[in-house]
Amino acid sequence: MGRLVMKFGGTSVANIDRIRNVARHVKREVDAGHDVAVVVSAMSGKTNELVDWCRDASPLHDAREYDAVVASGEQVTSGLLAIVLQGMGIQARSWQGWQIPIKTSDAHASARILEIDGTEIFNRFGDRKEVAVIAGFQGINPQTNRITTLGRGGSDTSAVAIAAAIRADRCDIYTDVDGVYTTDPRVVPKARRLDKIAFEDMLELASLGAKVLQVRSVELGMVHNMPVFVRSSFDKPEDIDPHGTPPGTLICSEEEIMESHVVTGIAFTKDEAQISLRQIEDKPGVAAAIFGPLADANINVDMIVQNVSEDGKTTDLTFTVPASDYNRARDTITSSKGKIGYARLDSATDVSKVSVIGSGMRSHAGVAAKAFKALSERNINIRAITTSEIKFSVLIDAAYTELAVRTLHTLYGLDQA
Ligand code: ADP
Ligand code: ASP
Ligand code: MG
Repeated sequence: MGRLVMKFGGTSVANIDRIRNVARHVKREVDAGHDVAVVVSAMSGKTNELVDWCRDASPLHDAREYDAVVASGEQVTSGLLAIVLQGMGIQARSWQGWQIPIKTSDAHASARILEIDGTEIFNRFGDRKEVAVIAGFQGINPQTNRITTLGRGGSDTSAVAIAAAIRADRCDIYTDVDGVYTTDPRVVPKARRLDKIAFEDMLELASLGAKVLQVRSVELGMVHNMPVFVRSSFDKPEDIDPHGTPPGTLICSEEEIMESHVVTGIAFTKDEAQISLRQIEDKPGVAAAIFGPLADANINVDMIVQNVSEDGKTTDLTFTVPASDYNRARDTITSSKGKIGYARLDSATDVSKVSVIGSGMRSHAGVAAKAFKALSERNINIRAITTSEIKFSVLIDAAYTELAVRTLHTLYGLDQA
C-alpha cells in the first residue's frame, strides 16, 4: 500500500465523460489499496475564457480580482470529480486551496507556494479512506486572506507540492500525451518518448518552452526528490495492468539514469520579442543605461548580443524580452534614448527561440557548432545565440521554427527509428 498524488490536466477533465474516466483511474488506485490525493485543472479552454473575460471587463484589471475569477475553473472540476467518485461508492471530498490551506506569496497571478498543511488530508486517509480531490492552480495568501493563482500551467506545481506535503511515494501527472518526448510530439511526429529524464534536463526543457510541465513543479520535484511520472489519461483504466509499468516518463535524479545522450531534447517558444539598438557609442556605462531601466521595470532580458555597426565605429546591441513585455520594453528604452544615445531602434515580434538541451553537453565540445552549420545549410538565419553549460538557444524567424526543430532533432539522432 502506498500514497499517491494523481494530477489530471484540462483535456483530461474536459467534460463529464472524461471526468468519469478520471474517476475510474482513481478507483483503480484506491482498489489497489493506495491512499490517493487527486489534483485537477479546469476544463480545457475554461481558464482562457476566464482570462479573456477579465480583459474584456477592463484591460487594466486588479490582479486580486483576476485571481478570484480564474481560480473558479478548478473549483468546478474538483466538485464534479468528487460527485462522480461518490456516485461510484468511493469516499471523496473536494478541497479548494484556501481550505487546505495552500499558503502562497501575494504575487497575484504568479504566486509561489510557501507552505501546505497536509494534516487534515492525511488524517482522513487514515480515519475513513477518503480521497482528497484538490483544486489545482490556486492557493491563499495568509496575510491578506485572498485567493491567489500560481501562473498558467500551475496545477502541475500544486500536485508536486501536495505530494511533498503528504510525503507521497510518487506524483503521477496524467495528461494528453503519454510522457515527455524529445520535443513536442505534436510538432515533430518522429519525436521519441523518454523513459526517464533527469530533473535538471526537464527543468531546462520546461523553462525553454516545453509546456508539458510547469517549471516550478520540476523545481519542487528536484528539491524534494519527489519522483514525478508523466503518463496519459486517455488509456482505458481497465486496460492497465496493476502490476506492470505503464507507458510514461519518470522524472528523477540524474544518478537513476543509466543511458546518457549528449542531447536530451529540443524546446521552442514564440513568446519572445527582439529589440535591436543601432549605432550606440561604444563606451563604458551604455549597457547599464539600457538594462538598468528594464530591470527597474521588472522586465526580464534573455538573450543579449553586441556587434559592430555598419559604420564600423559604433556598436549594435540586440536583446530579447518576453513578448508580453514587448511594448513596455520599447517604451522604457525610448524614454531613455537621450541617456543611451542610439541612432535607431529596430524590433521584431515574429521570432522564435529554439533550444537544444542535454546535461551530456558538459563533457562534449562542438555540440552547438554542429547546429549552426546545419541551420545555415537550410538557409535559416540566426539572429542571436545564448549558451550555458547544458543548453544553447538560437533566435530565428518564427516561420522557420518547425523546420529548425526538425533539422536539429534529426541532427542529434533523436528521431524515432
Ligand atoms: P495539461 O492540460 O494536461 O496540463 P498541457 O497542454 O499543459 O497539458 O501539456 C501537454 C502538452 O505539452 C502536450 O499536448 C504537448 O503538445 C506539449 N508538449 C510540449 N513539449 C512536449 C514534450 N517535450 N513532450 C511532451 N509534450 C510536450
Ligand atoms: N487551469 C490553469 C491553466 O490553464 C492551470 C493548469 O491547467 O495547470 O493555466
Ligand atoms: Mg499543463
